[in-house]
Amino acid sequence: MTASYAKDFHEIPESLTNNYSLKRKALDLVQSEPIAGKVTTGGSRLEDFREILIDFFDLQIDLDAAIAETEHRLPRQHSMFSGDNRVFASGWAERLVRTQVSRFYNQAVLETIIESGSDDCFVDHSSSEQALSKCSQQLAGANHSARVMLERIKSSYGDGEWNNERKLPDHPHCTHTFSPVS
Ligand SMILES: [Zn+2]
Repeated sequence: MTASYAKDFHEIPESLTNNYSLKRKALDLVQSEPIAGKVTTGGSRLEDFREILIDFFDLQIDLDAAIAETEHRLPRQHSMFSGDNRVFASGWAERLVRTQVSRFYNQAVLETIIESGSDDCFVDHSSSEQALSKCSQQLAGANHSARVMLERIKSSYGDGEWNNERKLPDHPHCTHTFSPVS
């Protein structure tokens, strides 16, 4: 049986359907890894958001449902940052969901690669990529170090230590994914 990996963001649910061990790993990470950001700070917001991500990675709900659930269960008016228009700029729920779905999928792929004894990951061009984006120009179509890419994901999207180094996702609508080098 050949394990399945997503060639871009939109193939993530199909990949999870066909790759049980990757799905398990993503679900483990969603439940245990830190998630950075003001939207999920305070009250039960982080735990509520984890439950939404669990439902997505467990294939119970699709991306649109996850975004709608995030708007419903993490309402702006209940946030300690509700007055901050930068935290809750239009489309905040979609950006949060897409960012963390990409982050956890890609983190699961990188950890799988490293556990298999490799350090090589590949970023394919995505049919829906923005051609002028930095990830399209500087990451896509090439191999990279899985360990370096994993560290960048964890420090940015887990610990909130943002920097300008290239990583996946590179922006909230990034459609690139990592895959093993066969
Ligand atoms: Zn990208």
